[in-house]
Amino acid sequence: MAKVVAIANQKGGVGKTTTAVNISACIAYLGKKVLLVDMDPQGNATSGAGIEKGEVDKCIYNLLVDDVEIKDIIRPGSVDNLSVVPATIQLSGAEIELVSTISREVRLKNALRDVIKDYDYIIIDCPPSLGLLTINALTASDSVLIPVQCEYYALEGLSQLLNTVRLVQKHLNHELAIEGVLLTMLDARTNLGLQVIEEVKKYFREKVYKTIIPRNVRLSEAPSHGLPIISYDARSKGAEVYLDLAKEVVASG
Ligand code: ADP
Ligand code: MG
Repeated sequence: MAKVVAIANQKGGVGKTTTAVNISACIAYLGKKVLLVDMDPQGNATSGAGIEKGEVDKCIYNLLVDDVEIKDIIRPGSVDNLSVVPATIQLSGAEIELVSTISREVRLKNALRDVIKDYDYIIIDCPPSLGLLTINALTASDSVLIPVQCEYYALEGLSQLLNTVRLVQKHLNHELAIEGVLLTMLDARTNLGLQVIEEVKKYFREKVYKTIIPRNVRLSEAPSHGLPIISYDARSKGAEVYLDLAKEVVASG
């Protein structure tokens, strides 16, 4: 049975997609079978994992709204052991269309049931909002991994996210846990980053991963080549830290 982990934070640009793609590829590299599920209409996880969005005819939209089978949507990713449920811009309509649909919050959970035995990990990249797409992701997940960017106001907005997590726990998914909090885009040249680390650790304590993701230009280049960092530049700092993170996640069970 796969462990299902949502990568969520309603703030944009905090490193959700970078983390979803690279943690998926690194866990796959460690020999586990991984399914990366793209729940963001921007489809950046899809292209970052090596899938040409223009060539996708059926995407996660069809699974959520049209009840197309997940097995008809899954595609191989750009590394061994990695498969992808792609998203295209079509998904942007789903948030509104789902409102009037029966069991609208559990559609992803129900769809994943068909393949949950085929994978060790299912990683879900969430959009930058707390709407129905993120609710579907949280309802389908065992846990949520929260990337937090090392910048001023790092904790701003997190109470809203945690509140949504509590609501999902209460009404839709009693088992949902906080997998961990990941500090991202640390700029080692400034003291600010270190202050943010202290602040986040004070609040989330042992939930904060030992691995901290620094700013690394190779991480921002890799997506335009459709490659995760371990394929794009295995010797970069970015590859090293995401592999460390993957090991931490796998070790925690
Ligand atoms: P989100 O999915 O939360 O919106 P992204 O993962 O797309 O965030 O990251 C936002 C931007 O920052 C992207 O252009 C990405 O390539 C870049 N980025 C993410 N993490 C890093 C990093 N550690 N170092 C350098 N650039 C990064
Ligand atoms: Mg994203």
